[in-house]
Amino acid sequence: MRYTSLHIHSLFCDGYDSILDIIKEAIKLNLDTIGILYHSYTSFDESYCIKKDKIDEFINLVERYKKEFQNLINIKHGVEQDYFSETDTKQHDYLIGSVHYIKKNDKYYPIDSSKEETIKLVNELYNGDYYEFSKDYFNLVSQVVSKTKCTIIGHFDLVTKYNLFDTDNEKYRLLYKNAVDKLIPYNIPFEINTSIVDEKGEPYPSLEIINYIKSKGGKFILSSDAHKKENLIKHFDEYIKYIGD
Ligand SMILES: [Zn+2]
Ligand SMILES: [Zn+2]
Repeated sequence: MRYTSLHIHSLFCDGYDSILDIIKEAIKLNLDTIGILYHSYTSFDESYCIKKDKIDEFINLVERYKKEFQNLINIKHGVEQDYFSETDTKQHDYLIGSVHYIKKNDKYYPIDSSKEETIKLVNELYNGDYYEFSKDYFNLVSQVVSKTKCTIIGHFDLVTKYNLFDTDNEKYRLLYKNAVDKLIPYNIPFEINTSIVDEKGEPYPSLEIINYIKSKGGKFILSSDAHKKENLIKHFDEYIKYIGD
């Protein structure tokens, strides 16, 4: 079968490759459809998002390649819309909605920038309680569709990125189940995001959560969250079986 891969970052944000190089690699890999996106603009943190004045250039470029390569591959342009982004997204083919920050006392704290920063954040704001931290995180995630109007739910359990707490725990289960239950009625797919497989041995969300989402009738899409063209479909062969039809 030919894969579709929609969560791919380029030089327009924090990816390492040009859009053209990504497309050429995707054609080489015989992909059916490729989607290039960028981190939506966040005024409170410009370190890894797109530059505010580059969005039109991004769209025009992808539109040009769409036509140029239409006989070889389907190309789409999207945005990974952060929960706290306020930029317009209407012109895109699809949207992945993601929570990357916690907001406390009018300040934004990244939750996936480094292990050290996450430890510091949880110690300072939550007295070291990772379940309270997860509670705030999943509360945002549960609203990510209504807030961002996304068409795909991004890395559902990003809060587990650094393996800093025990997720085999009823307190934690209650939090993620509550968020899943709130998202299911929107009837849009959850990503099975393979970018963390090398570190964690499983994707976002974890296999336990995938099974819970399945039991509730949720659907999935495979994504690599690639920042390098070498990773466009990394681990897809192992996780395609979870997608269903
Ligand atoms: Zn993300
Ligand atoms: Zn991403």
